[in-house]
Amino acid sequence: MTDKEAKAFYNAAAWKHKRMQILERDHYECQDCRKRLKDAVAAGHILQGEDRKIRRAEEVHHIVELKEHPELGLEDDNLISLCVKCHNLRHGRTPRRFQRKKKLASKERW
Ligand SMILES: [Zn+2]
Ligand SMILES: [Zn+2]
Repeated sequence: MTDKEAKAFYNAAAWKHKRMQILERDHYECQDCRKRLKDAVAAGHILQGEDRKIRRAEEVHHIVELKEHPELGLEDDNLISLCVKCHNLRHGRTPRRFQRKKKLASKERW
């Protein structure tokens, strides 16, 4: 699947509908936050601060990448609700905060 095809997929009504369905299925709770909490309790760890919370899921992630397996793009089993932070972690992306800082830094030259 090309970038262009992926973009078209995310813009399609079928995806928007499926995305809402998955968020509802997961009760708008980040499934990675939930797992982190569950694992910690099972291991007898006490979590502090931010880590004690299950953040609100705002994004739906493809477990098997869409570009690799477009046919799984709308499969319930391949979709998981995540908060922005956990979603970035899954993709190894830099948090938005850092990107914004960079932009500001270049502005300061003027
Ligand atoms: Zn999360
Ligand atoms: Zn993702």
